[in-house]
Amino acid sequence: MTSSFGPIGDPVRNIAAPRGTGLTCRGWPQEAAYRMLQNNLDPEVAEDPDHLVVYGGTGRAARSWDAYRAMLRTLTTLGNDETMLVQSGKPVGVLRTHEWAPRVLIANSNLVPDWANWDEFRRLEHAGLTMYGQMTAGSWIYIGTQGILQGTYECFAEIARARFGGSLAGTLTITAGAGGMGGAQPLAVTMNEGVVLIVDVDEHMLRRRVDHRYLDEIAPDYATAVRRAEEAKAARIPRSVGLVGNAADVLPRLLADGVGADIVTDQTSAHDPLSYMPSDLSPEAADELRRSDPTEFTRRARASMAIHCEAMVGFMDAGAEVFDYGNSLRAEARLGGFQRAFDYPGFLPAYIRPLFCEGRGPFRWVALSGDPADIAATDRAVLEEFPDDEGLRRWIEMAGERVAFQGLPARICWLGYGERHRLGLRFNEMVRRGELTAPIVIGRDHLDSGSVASPYRETEAMLDGSDAIADWPLLNGLVNTASGATWVSIHHGGGVGIGRSIHAGQVSVADGTDLAAEKLERVLTNDPAMGVIRHVDAGYDRAAEVARERGVTIPMGDPPPAATAGARP
Ligand code: NAD
Repeated sequence: MTSSFGPIGDPVRNIAAPRGTGLTCRGWPQEAAYRMLQNNLDPEVAEDPDHLVVYGGTGRAARSWDAYRAMLRTLTTLGNDETMLVQSGKPVGVLRTHEWAPRVLIANSNLVPDWANWDEFRRLEHAGLTMYGQMTAGSWIYIGTQGILQGTYECFAEIARARFGGSLAGTLTITAGAGGMGGAQPLAVTMNEGVVLIVDVDEHMLRRRVDHRYLDEIAPDYATAVRRAEEAKAARIPRSVGLVGNAADVLPRLLADGVGADIVTDQTSAHDPLSYMPSDLSPEAADELRRSDPTEFTRRARASMAIHCEAMVGFMDAGAEVFDYGNSLRAEARLGGFQRAFDYPGFLPAYIRPLFCEGRGPFRWVALSGDPADIAATDRAVLEEFPDDEGLRRWIEMAGERVAFQGLPARICWLGYGERHRLGLRFNEMVRRGELTAPIVIGRDHLDSGSVASPYRETEAMLDGSDAIADWPLLNGLVNTASGATWVSIHHGGGVGIGRSIHAGQVSVADGTDLAAEKLERVLTNDPAMGVIRHVDAGYDRAAEVARERGVTIPMGDPPPAATAGARP
């Protein structure tokens, strides 16, 4: 079969990762990759599994169904001293390495800078030579919408702290895009006690969020949606209301009608102008034009994004807290002719950078057993390990109550430098003692403190102007490879699109062995250390403080008090 993505072959139906303790592969590290690749394409997890799309527009787990089958086959025979190489979703070789080496090394969507544009990417994708890996799609550690939920929750909590006295009660957030990432927004707002009106052109996407308990209701029409949202805001009752519509139509209308928004953002798939729906096309006409004339489709999408973004700036002028949520809407709107697109900030410099200075970032884990009781046990372990972290306690308790698992049971929280390895070792010990029924896989989003170069997102407005320096994610990938991660990936594109970011990820397995403990201690120390180092280098005082206090060695900075043991807690 040839699709707009290139030749991907016939879908494999009803994928679900194996559960339980029986191994198909020759060891748990290989088994973890084997299960997580399948988990990424479980229909409960993936947004469009028939096209191998996991989330984020066209973010895929494998380049073709043949490549998918070949990766699974290879993983079943891969030795404990071998490494499978994956080039943009296709297994291209198996090399003899050693037991500390990653079992899988992945490079996705990378292009030489002069060729790093959508036209060239699509030409190569159509020729079957590459695929879009997004962040956790092509690196096999997507856990459904929960993966972004905690970061989204933290982001709204930070806005609540900064502007609304610590809670979003009595506020209205307006946003769009209820996809794999964006679908976390309604629950993140209601968890912060606010009201949210979320617009999506595709009713199916909103329905999926209702089914997964991320969204309370879908309003039958515009007037009802506005009334329901305004009533809930007045009564200070947390509520999420979905509305089927195009953001480029609905947001200007809400602005013109004087609907009182307190916070406005967006998570439509704006990073890819072929994924954003132009407002003047029906879904059928859009499908046809996307195929027949992608240049014209792009022109129309950008024109709509300009209108959409202009409405957001209008809300900002009216006093709302407005921010870009990492999807490149501003950059595309500017290409569409709207000059004030960058008047509002990205969420990273606005809310997240102080966390990055402490090496704080996403830490996610998956129970390979498939048993939700294993996640409940790890939740309890988190609370015991960090008894003084009030925010973490609130999150873990709420997540336990309100998050429905998609695919293998999983959890996420944000932890800093000096914390992540403690939890990794704790989980490994729990596996060793039989307190968990099978090993745990620990990974993260590429959106982390020291793993991304992205001038429109993670590295927007760096203190020293180093936004576009892409050495950092490459070093991060090398560091995790050198430290003993189970699989390591280096990608281009991600959440903001081709030409706009380079990022790296790691996944490690806690299988209860001594070797796993040694590897976890190093990986989960060195990986967040990259965040501290990156921000020290850019001149952030807080990062320098953290390096000094927690003993991260910075050759050209102040020596850490505990002297020279390297990047160790
Ligand atoms: P997705 O493809 O799963 O969903 C996008 C949604 O936008 C779809 O439901 C689609 O129907 C809707 N949409 C498209 N055009 C629209 C329009 N004009 N009006 C209303 N709805 C429209 O994507 P996702 O995984 O939810 O990611 C959303 C965006 O966020 C992407 O650009 C992604 O790259 C970016 N992203 C953000 C983060 C983050 O941390 N904030 C992380 C990764 C990705």
